[in-house]
Amino acid sequence: MNYISTRGSAPILSFEDTMLTGLARDGGLYVPKSIPTMSQADIRAMVGLNYEEIAFRVMRPFVGDSFSEEEFFEIIQRSYAGFNHLARAPLTQLDSNHFLLELFHGPTLAFKDFAMQLIGQMFQVALRRRDERVTIVGATSGDTGSAAIEAFRGLDTVDIFILYPHGRVSEVQRRQMTTPKENNVHALALDGHFDDCQARLKDMFNDFDFRDSVQLAGVNSINWARVLAQVVYYFSSAISLGAPDRPVSFTVPTGNFGDVFAGYIAKCMGLPVDQLVVATNQNDIVHRCLSTGKYKKDKVLSSLSPSMDIQISSNFERALFDACDRNGNAVSRIMEDLSQRNGFSLSKCVSEKLSQHFSSNSASEEETLATIKKCFTQTGELLCPHTAIGVNVAEKTRFPDTPMITLATAHPAKFPDAVEKASDLRPPLPERMDDLYQRSERLTRVENDLTKLEEIVKERIKT
Ligand SMILES: *Cc1c(COP(=O)(O)O)cnc(C)c1O
Repeated sequence: MNYISTRGSAPILSFEDTMLTGLARDGGLYVPKSIPTMSQADIRAMVGLNYEEIAFRVMRPFVGDSFSEEEFFEIIQRSYAGFNHLARAPLTQLDSNHFLLELFHGPTLAFKDFAMQLIGQMFQVALRRRDERVTIVGATSGDTGSAAIEAFRGLDTVDIFILYPHGRVSEVQRRQMTTPKENNVHALALDGHFDDCQARLKDMFNDFDFRDSVQLAGVNSINWARVLAQVVYYFSSAISLGAPDRPVSFTVPTGNFGDVFAGYIAKCMGLPVDQLVVATNQNDIVHRCLSTGKYKKDKVLSSLSPSMDIQISSNFERALFDACDRNGNAVSRIMEDLSQRNGFSLSKCVSEKLSQHFSSNSASEEETLATIKKCFTQTGELLCPHTAIGVNVAEKTRFPDTPMITLATAHPAKFPDAVEKASDLRPPLPERMDDLYQRSERLTRVENDLTKLEEIVKERIKT
């Protein structure tokens, strides 16, 4: 299986190299050269299988010969063994034909664990075999960083640095990043927003001298392997509700567009998906782009759902690549406009192609709070604020005859302040991490400055 860049001028790579590289050298994102498909019979044959078995069948064609079948199945089993629910991604019901896909039973209580645990295990196996060591740098609005640190802590093939916006992540998120004791873990609190963290990360990748000297590797949501891991639960949940013989819809709380793009891949592979609804918070740039064809960068507003507070939605580039008939030059021009003019306008044809697959809506801060409250009163389910945006948008957009699956992206206890504000209930942390508030923290404050950041990274990996 070969991978190509969305901007058309980076080397073609194998799955393993794509995973270890992260961002392509032409600034683009790697995507499979062609999407493997599954027949209705292939999908039907997965009915009744457990999560790991479905994961193996869905992901195997994308991995090519990077891992043997046995090796890959063991990697999958190790990745999900630490989850706190046998089904890994269980469904609960909110209303007739409206379901919640609980993706928060992993070690850091958010859906990012699905991809990150898998990536950690795959990195370790691949790097041990190559006898190499890499420096992982990631940017986070909170959940990616904690999931990445949890997945890579203590692994002897990597150093991991996580950039997060100082003062703009929840206390649980921060503590999950700053309390691990392993000395391959480095939490960096950057003065700025998440978009600044993401921009500095991209700068480091585009500084090829630095990139090569520290063997830089990326695990941000632009890493193809992360998207791939997320395709699995679209299959597992749809199959539980009758796929391939009954189409289902999904609503996905969206920031960087990685999770919803995984749903699009599931659909391209042959899973019968009706609506794929992008749900945004008040930072609704993707919703506006999907509904008007104009992507216009604005200021980032801090919201109750910080993991969706973005103005640059990285994985959207992958959707654009397909909507531009996989023309890398066209995507490069659009991205050039974004960096020079802070926005771009899509042609009618590209807009229409996007609308064939994605619909969208947004929820305000008031709607977020009201949805948490209403859902708790009506069903007894406490939603995290991101999930509440999904549920609110699902209610506005779903068709009553088609099962709607809303992705529950985090556990309510990860965002206790917002949940308490809405419901007067303070969700307790699950027992296995109830000493989080007592553990001591370790972090480094950094300026929003590329040179200083690179110095810190170089210095730390020497010791
Ligand atoms: C990361 C995250 C999102 C957004 O996911 P994307 O893949 O970036 O669109 C939504 N909710 C939570 C809780 C998250 O951690």
